[in-house]
Amino acid sequence: MKRPRTLAEPFKIKMVEPLRIATPDYRSKALEKAHYNPFLLHSDDVYIDLLTDSGTSAMSDHQWAAMMIGDESYAGSHSWEHLEKIVKELTGMPYVLPTHQGRAAERILYGILGGKNKVFISNTHFDTTRANIEFTGAQAFDCISDESLNHEIELPFKGNMDVKQAREIILKYGAEKISAVILTVTNNSAGGQPVSMENAMEVRALCNEFGILFVIDGCRIAENSYFIKHREKSYREKACIDIAREMLDLADGFVMSAKKDGLANIGGLLVLRDKTLAGKCTNLLIISEGFTTYGGLTGRDMEAIAVGLEEIFDEDYLHYRIKSTEYLGRHLHEKGVPLIRPYGGHAIYINAKELYPHIPVEQFPGQALVCNLYVQGGIRCVEVGSVMFGKYDENSKLIPAKSELVRLAIPRRVYTQSHIEYVIDVFDDILEQRTSAKGVKIVYEPPFLRHFTAKFSEV
Ligand SMILES: *Cc1c(COP(=O)(O)O)cnc(C)c1O
Repeated sequence: MKRPRTLAEPFKIKMVEPLRIATPDYRSKALEKAHYNPFLLHSDDVYIDLLTDSGTSAMSDHQWAAMMIGDESYAGSHSWEHLEKIVKELTGMPYVLPTHQGRAAERILYGILGGKNKVFISNTHFDTTRANIEFTGAQAFDCISDESLNHEIELPFKGNMDVKQAREIILKYGAEKISAVILTVTNNSAGGQPVSMENAMEVRALCNEFGILFVIDGCRIAENSYFIKHREKSYREKACIDIAREMLDLADGFVMSAKKDGLANIGGLLVLRDKTLAGKCTNLLIISEGFTTYGGLTGRDMEAIAVGLEEIFDEDYLHYRIKSTEYLGRHLHEKGVPLIRPYGGHAIYINAKELYPHIPVEQFPGQALVCNLYVQGGIRCVEVGSVMFGKYDENSKLIPAKSELVRLAIPRRVYTQSHIEYVIDVFDDILEQRTSAKGVKIVYEPPFLRHFTAKFSEV
C-alpha cells in the first residue's frame, strides 16, 4: 500500500468525554477572571488541553479491566506482584519500589544519596529532580552541549549528555563527591529530545572509570527507544522494548513517573540493582510512602501501570505517538511558526520571541501567546520562558530566561488527528494577528514556582 496521508490512530473510541466549545468572547472573559494565567482556568472552559502530558493519558480497555481486579490487600497484593514482574522484566533490576509519583522516587533516592558537599550530574535535571537534589543541600549540574541548546541546528540526539563536561565536573569536585550521574530520557527540559544508546554507553564507561552510580530517569523511555530505533544505526531491526532493556542494562538505577510512559494517571517507580542501597530506600519508602507492596498506590493503580508499561512498547502505538507529534510540528513549521527542531517526543516548543518580536521580554511574549491560543482556540498550553525561569537582579530588574518558549504537550491517546488539525488551523489566526498581539505584566507573584499561580494583566 502507498503510505497513507492520514496518520490514523491505532485505537478506536469506546468511551467519550464531551468537550464544550465556548466562543472567543466567553473565553476572553474566562481568561480575564483567571488573571491571564491558564493554570487558573477551569478545565471545563478548555477545548484542547495541551498543558502537560503528565497523568493525562487515556487508559485502554485492558487497563480499566485490570483495575477491576485490583487487589487492595495491604501486604502481598497480587496487583503488586503483577507490577513487580513487569518492571523486573523491563529493567532487569531486582529491587522494585512503588511510589505515588516520580518525585517521590526522586525524594527517596536523592535524599539518601544527596547532602551538603555532594554533586549530581545530568544531561538536564528535570525541575523536580533538581529541587529534590538541592533540597538536600547538594548541587546539580546540567551537562549539555551548546549545539544541543541551539534551536537552529538539527541533530538526531539533542538530548545527549556532554560527557566531556561531565568528566570536567568529576575531576573538579573529585569522584567521591559525585552522588550519581542521571541520564534523563527523553530529555524533558531540553525539549523532549532523545538520548542515543551510544551516549548511554559513554555515560556507563565514565561511571565505571570513576566508580559512580548511574541512574536513568526513564519517564519517556519508550518514546526514546523509538527514536533510537529510527535514528541510530544497528537498532533498526530491534523491538523498542528490547532497546529500552538494553539501555537499562547499562544503569544501576531507574526512576520513573508512571504518569508519562506508564500510560497511567498516577504512580512512580524506583528500581535498583544494589541490595544495600535498596534497603536504605525501602526504609524511607515505608516511613513516607507506604509498605513495600504498595508504596502509596492502590492495587488498581498498580494494575493500570503494569498493563500500561506493556502497552507503551506497542510498535504501532509508538509510531503513531512520535509521528503525530511530528505532524503538528511539521505543519506549524510549514505555516511559518518559529519552533524548535527537530521535534521532541511529547511536545512541540514554539519560539515566542521570534513570533512576537515587537513584545519585549519584560512583557513576556510566551505568556502573550499562551493567552492568545486560549482566546482564539480554547487551547491551553504553558509558557517556558521568563515567567517560568526569569529572575530579578538587585534592582528588581528582570533577568530573562535563555529563551521565550511555549510548550504544546500532547497527552497520550487523548486527541485525534482532527483535534491536531484544529490546533494547526488556530495558528492561522495567531499568525494573522501576530503584529497586534499585546504583552502582559505581572501583578502578583508568589516567591517560588510563580508560573502556577502568578496573576497578570494586559499592557
Ligand atoms: C514528570 C517527571 C518527573 C517527576 O514525576 P512526577 O510523577 O510528576 O512526580 C521526573 N523526571 C522527569 C524527566 C519528568 O518528566
